[in-house]
Amino acid sequence: LMRLEGARKSFGGTPVLRDISLQVSKGEVVAIIGPSGGGKSTLLRCCALLETLDAGTLAFGDLVVARNDAAGRAAYQGRETLAQARQRFGLVFQGFNLFPHYTVMRNVTDAPLAVQRRDRDEVFAHARELLAKMGLEGREDAVPSELSGGQQQRVAIARALALRPDVLFFDEPTSALDPELTQGVLKVIRGLADERMTMVIVTHEMSFARDVADRVVFMDGGLIVEEGPAAEVIDRPREQRTRDFLRGIG
Ligand code: ATP
Ligand code: MG
Repeated sequence: LMRLEGARKSFGGTPVLRDISLQVSKGEVVAIIGPSGGGKSTLLRCCALLETLDAGTLAFGDLVVARNDAAGRAAYQGRETLAQARQRFGLVFQGFNLFPHYTVMRNVTDAPLAVQRRDRDEVFAHARELLAKMGLEGREDAVPSELSGGQQQRVAIARALALRPDVLFFDEPTSALDPELTQGVLKVIRGLADERMTMVIVTHEMSFARDVADRVVFMDGGLIVEEGPAAEVIDRPREQRTRDFLRGIG
């Protein structure tokens, strides 16, 4: 469903991703863990087309977005293809990035109407269904500032799902939240995992990663140091660097 191969990215001569390959299958939940500065957000931003790779292949299903040219540099497809690719994933960040002057409903329905040009009744019915699933029934007409951080983050998840993406990317979706609000957000993500939504989740919540992810990827220094089934990587890591990281987190 998503394929990244030989991904490299440097900022000002400093390598941040060094030859990363990551394949995500339909229905799979992948958690990416690792120390600060290890390149997790950069990896996700490259997958979400917010950064361009220096080298490597990126594809969503049969849609190849970038592949190496003869000189070994990532060559991206034209605007059409990129626009098509952008319909295949949704993105949820740490901050909520909602439009502050739009209601909850408008935040969720705006892109499906304006970008995807879907039927208005269908979009609104779908949005209502998603908001109910996120525990936000009755809050359709609120503006973001009237909601808690946890509620805002659940609106952001509904907004990402409203585009009917193949895969959802999360970058530390709870790290800006108080512990009691974190649980509500983790619960809805767990619910999506139960429905076999394909997700790639950067997280510092180890017990959440162990429970929800099919596969855990440990990244450090721009490399995938270790990956495997969640229980194995978190409970029985093979690599010393993974052990040190997990011990540090306690
Ligand atoms: P954290 O757990 O703190 O979020 P991370 O694993 O997500 O860390 P990245 O944000 O991907 O790490 O950053 C990896 C490295 O790339 C860091 O050294 C960072 O300073 C650098 N970096 C990231 N984005 C940029 C940028 N736009 N310009 C320059 N350097 C950057
Ligand atoms: Mg990050």
